Amino acid sequence: MLEHDLEGELDAFLAGHQAELIDFRRDLHAHPEIGYHEYRTTRRIALRLEAAGLRPSILPKGTGMMVDIGASSSDEPVVALRADIDALPIGDEKTVPYRSTTANTCHACGHDVHTAILLGTGLFLARAAAAGALPGKVRLIFQPAEEVPGGALDVLAAGGIASVDRIFALHCDPRLDVGKIGTRTGPITAACDKIVVKVTGPGGHTARPHLTADLVFALGKIITELPAALSRRVDPRSSLSLVWGRVSAGTAANAIPDDGVVEGTVRCLDDSAWHAAPDLLKALLDSVASAYGVMADLVYTRNVPPTVNEAASTAMIEAAADRVLGPDAITHAPQSLGGEDFAWYLESIPGALARLGTRTPGSTEDFDIHQPKFNVDERAIGIGVRLMAATALSAMCTGATAREPMPGAALA
Ligand SMILES: [Zn+2]
Ligand SMILES: [Zn+2]
Repeated sequence: MLEHDLEGELDAFLAGHQAELIDFRRDLHAHPEIGYHEYRTTRRIALRLEAAGLRPSILPKGTGMMVDIGASSSDEPVVALRADIDALPIGDEKTVPYRSTTANTCHACGHDVHTAILLGTGLFLARAAAAGALPGKVRLIFQPAEEVPGGALDVLAAGGIASVDRIFALHCDPRLDVGKIGTRTGPITAACDKIVVKVTGPGGHTARPHLTADLVFALGKIITELPAALSRRVDPRSSLSLVWGRVSAGTAANAIPDDGVVEGTVRCLDDSAWHAAPDLLKALLDSVASAYGVMADLVYTRNVPPTVNEAASTAMIEAAADRVLGPDAITHAPQSLGGEDFAWYLESIPGALARLGTRTPGSTEDFDIHQPKFNVDERAIGIGVRLMAATALSAMCTGATAREPMPGAALA
């Protein structure tokens, strides 16, 4: 059935379900929940899956779930599709009927859209499975807490990809027109670590900086010198970047404080530069701090690794897009310095993450994800269902070869 008329089957499915999926997304948008608190979201997804005859299993911490579609024998491929379901702790500043009803919480990263797409894809594939037209098994992963991050690790700990051959995901991209899909082989998102630098000194009167350590001046030097020195000590192709987000020191205009703090993020596209970053930053910090007579303490917190798309998986997304969205749908996605915890799956199995265009063509609005006015052109939901369903089918059909390569084996 599907192999012969996948496009027609998708058209017919979406004609009957697109409005429901948009309503589902709007309901999640109006009731956003931050990482590990997605109880209502989880309940809504599970109820809809159960109504379609599926049996989701909730993850051990109580939010997020996995559900398998199609009975797979041991030699049939298993393909996982992942959506993240959590919202962000920022206010919703849109004026739309489905605006967030929860203070300081908003689906400003489009995870409500990802969830609606995965639900629609699951409903479509469940119909195909019931008709005996699924050439393998599909696992839907509704992952909690991407923004925390850590939800991917919970899925891994629950054995979520233990028998999975390949995994795929989409992420909304408000800089791409709806209908467009951005793909890239190799790194597509960056490592994103957090650093906190605490600086201490004797303190004193601003009349006599030479008799103490001028702590605010030293802090300023650290703020400007560390990013500058990094850019000369690391291969520029690794795109290692340090950007500060918070600084604090002192309480009075005429008193040199005895402590101060600056916090920021370290982003990186290259795995080896990522591994070297903590030691390099420590050495640079010590050299700047000692020149100004202050003590500096670095707390380096590892976050997500870079997301490195496997070539064969990326090609499957591109072939699927060509088939169900047309030959002009695929565009080359730039590397992003954003972090994405999908990276953790790709450390174990091959897969790929693609960018889903969500901008209304011709729109002059220029908003990014994580902004309080972020919104999408909801036609992206139907586009996402088409792409995810076709990608899963394509990956299942080439499943026999999918087990051979190791993750990253085909990467340049
Ligand atoms: Zn986000
Ligand atoms: Zn996101």
